Amino acid sequence: MAAAELGEVLSAPFDPLLLVDASGVLTTINRAAELQLGLNSQVGQRAEQIAAIAPIFEALSAPPTTGGGPIWAASNGHSYRVLTTTTPAHGLLICLRDVSDLQQLGSAVEDFMHVVSHDLRTPLTALKSYAEMLVEGDFGTLQPEQQTAMEKLTISIYGMVALVNNLQAADRFDPKRGRYGIQYTMLDLTDLLRRILEDQQLPAELHKVRLELDIDPSLPIVRADQLMLERALANLVDNAIKFSPEGTTIRVEVKADGTNVMFAVRDHGPGIAPEDQTRIFERSVRVEHPGQKRVRGSGLGLYVVKTVAERHGGSVWVESALGQGSSFFLRLPVRAEAATG
Ligand code: ADP
Repeated sequence: MAAAELGEVLSAPFDPLLLVDASGVLTTINRAAELQLGLNSQVGQRAEQIAAIAPIFEALSAPPTTGGGPIWAASNGHSYRVLTTTTPAHGLLICLRDVSDLQQLGSAVEDFMHVVSHDLRTPLTALKSYAEMLVEGDFGTLQPEQQTAMEKLTISIYGMVALVNNLQAADRFDPKRGRYGIQYTMLDLTDLLRRILEDQQLPAELHKVRLELDIDPSLPIVRADQLMLERALANLVDNAIKFSPEGTTIRVEVKADGTNVMFAVRDHGPGIAPEDQTRIFERSVRVEHPGQKRVRGSGLGLYVVKTVAERHGGSVWVESALGQGSSFFLRLPVRAEAATG
């Protein structure tokens, strides 16, 4: 296709389009690029030296992001997703997709989730305490039907608390958009784990599973963020309880060598197929277990665990086989320095 014809095709007034030839010269732009980026006289110059578009090339050299291309916040107030393709005859075609509206919508949803999860906390804490007292007989022995109903209610309330905690954590801990600044303190992991298991004792009893703790006696004091670590471990234990069949035991282990501290949460649940073992850590990914009763969940729990691991410079993974239970591992550097702050 001749350059003039190509220019005509590209002049459609949608997303800004830029064509950069093999020697790095901006050869063609469309009308949207002219109007939105104020380009025109610069055609024929080296693209990376044109101030209005030079940051695009920095964005393109950054590590790849999800969603197809990096986001460029242009000086005209718009945010563009930078999409590229290379054609042998004409060089690099850059398409700038305006995602400003989507970004605004995204942050409105985030603000909404933030307010909702924050405001649900107080009434849920009250509901949880009363449910615990009722189910444990603090107000007198309940009739068998009342006891069964209260047990179901208490399990649901624990589910709501976990959901609200995860909505908040997934939002705040996010390394790019989160508002949570990691706070390192020296942590006694024995205390921390005992507290987490104590909190999960009632749900474990209601699900008729046992919790077992195995702590390496020579565990060092570890530098980590307490809230983040609590949320991560609580999620692993909560999942193990949810997915375990009645009568089984969940084992929580922690040990350390000179470099790392390693937590393991092992259950006798349905197990996880090899093809799902990586994607379950992605945000909002849930996997049904055929033949099992439906288990509540949001798909946020393991994403929170992964975020916590990565922000500590650590990692999380699962070892599992269908029908053989699962072991989740969380490894953190003993002197965890911030990976992304
Ligand atoms: P949720 O539990 O809210 O669905 P998670 O992110 O915590 O979200 O878990 C994602 C998926 O990983 C779950 O839907 C489930 O299929 C699987 N999963 C997590 N923990 C276990 C476990 N201990 N045993 C079996 N499957 C699990």
